[in-house]
Amino acid sequence: MKKEILKNFLRRKRKILIFGGGISGKSCAKFFKEKGHQVWISDIKKIPTPSGVDFIEQNQVIKKISGFDLFVLSPGISLEILPVRQAKKAKKIVVGELDLAFSLIPDSIEKVLITGTNGKSTTTALVSHILSKNKRKCIACGNIGNPIFSFLSRLGGDEILAVEVSSYQLEMLARENIRGKVRIFLNFSPDHLSRHKTLERYRKIKERIFENMKKEEIGISKPEVKEKNIFYIGKDIRFFQNRIKFSKKFKKILKIDDIFIEEKKLNFILSANAENLAAASGCAAAFGLSSQEIASAIYSFKPLPHRLEPVKIKNFRTFINDSKATNISSTIHALKNLTGKIVLIVGGLDKGESFKKLLPHLKNVRLIVAYGDAREKIKKELSRKNVVSIQNFEDALKFAWEKSKKGEKIVLSPACASFDQFKNFEERGNFFKKWAEKNT
Ligand code: ADP
Repeated sequence: MKKEILKNFLRRKRKILIFGGGISGKSCAKFFKEKGHQVWISDIKKIPTPSGVDFIEQNQVIKKISGFDLFVLSPGISLEILPVRQAKKAKKIVVGELDLAFSLIPDSIEKVLITGTNGKSTTTALVSHILSKNKRKCIACGNIGNPIFSFLSRLGGDEILAVEVSSYQLEMLARENIRGKVRIFLNFSPDHLSRHKTLERYRKIKERIFENMKKEEIGISKPEVKEKNIFYIGKDIRFFQNRIKFSKKFKKILKIDDIFIEEKKLNFILSANAENLAAASGCAAAFGLSSQEIASAIYSFKPLPHRLEPVKIKNFRTFINDSKATNISSTIHALKNLTGKIVLIVGGLDKGESFKKLLPHLKNVRLIVAYGDAREKIKKELSRKNVVSIQNFEDALKFAWEKSKKGEKIVLSPACASFDQFKNFEERGNFFKKWAEKNT
C-alpha cells in the first residue's frame, strides 16, 4: 500500500488485527496500542498478549471481518489462511508487518536489505558490527529477531538499519517499500517449499530484493540476476590469498582498496563465512569505510550462537552446535568447512528435500545419528553410510557421545526444522549445549 495513504489512514484511531503472536506480532501490537489504536492479536494457539491488546480466535475473526480496519500479517503467516483470504475478499487493507514498518520509518533512515537462503543473520550481524564499530549508528533488525516495531518510536532519524529479510517478508513487501542503499542476495538453494510451492516461485520472491533499484543504490549478489548495478560475490568481491579483493569497477565506484585478513585474528571459521564477509565488506565500502576500518572491525566480530558454534572439548572430542542448519545446503556448508572426522547428528522435522544430496559430502563423517521425525527417511536415503536411527534427541546425543572416538567432532547440523521436539532451533541448540556441558 502507498506510504502516504497508509500514514493518512492511521491518523484516525483504527481497529487493527494482527495475525501471529510471536515477537514481531507482539511488538507491532504494542506499537499501535501505544499510539491509541484498538488492537487484537489472533493466533492458532492461545498466547498471552501485551497489556491492552485482546486475543481473538481465528474462527471469531472470520465472523467479524467487517469489524476491523487493518489486518497485519506476521512474517510466518501465509496469505492463504482463511481469515486472510476473507479479509482480502472484503477489500480490507492487508499488509505484512515489515512492509508496514517500512512505510512508517522516517525517510532519512538508510537501509541495508539482506536476503538469501543461508547466512542472512550472520551477514546482518556483521554489517551492523562493522558499521557500528566505525561510528555509524547501525541497528541489526528484521528477521534476525529484532522487529522494527520494537524500536520504531525511539528512532532519531540518523540511524542505518541492517534488515534481515526472509522470503516470507519479501513476498509481502510493496514495490515502493523495497528501498535500500545496499541490497544483498547471499545465495540460493531449496528451502521453504511447503510455503512457496515451487523453486521458481521461491527464487522470484528472493529476487524482489533488487526490485525498484535507484541509480545511487547498489546490489551485491552471488546468484546471477538480471538487474543493473549489481556487484557479484566471487567476481567483483572475492577472497584470494587472505585478501578480500575488489574488481576494478568496484574500486573505482566505491573508492576502496583490497582488504587483507589475518586469519588467526578471527573468532570464526574464515572459509565458512567467506561469502558473508565479502558481502558485508562490500556493503561497508558503500558507506564510505576504508579497508583498514573494515578489517579491524571484522577481527572483533563474535559469531552468532547456533551457527558452527564450538561448544566444548572433552576427552579429545569437540562438540559443535550448528542447530541453525535447518536445510540441506547449510549442513553441506558445515561439512565442507569442518576438518577432521565427524559424528554427525542430523534430523528433526523433514522439510521435504532429499537427504541424498548430503552423500557427496560425507567423506569425513564416520557415523551418522539420525533422530526425530525424519530419521527413517535419512537412514534409507543415506544407507550407503553408517547410519543409526534414534527417535529421541537426548538418546541420539547420548549415543553419539558414547560411540565417538578420540579427535572426532560431534556435530549437530540437523538439515531439518526443529519443531518436532523443540519450540525452535535455539531451544534445540541450547539443549545440545547444556547436555554436552552436563553429561560428558
Ligand atoms: P539464516 O539467517 O539465513 O538462516 P544464519 O547466518 O543464521 O543464516 O546461518 C544459518 C546456517 O547456515 C548455519 O548453519 C550457518 O553455519 C550456515 N551458513 C552461514 N553462512 C552461510 C553461507 N554463506 N552459505 C551457506 N551456509 C551458511
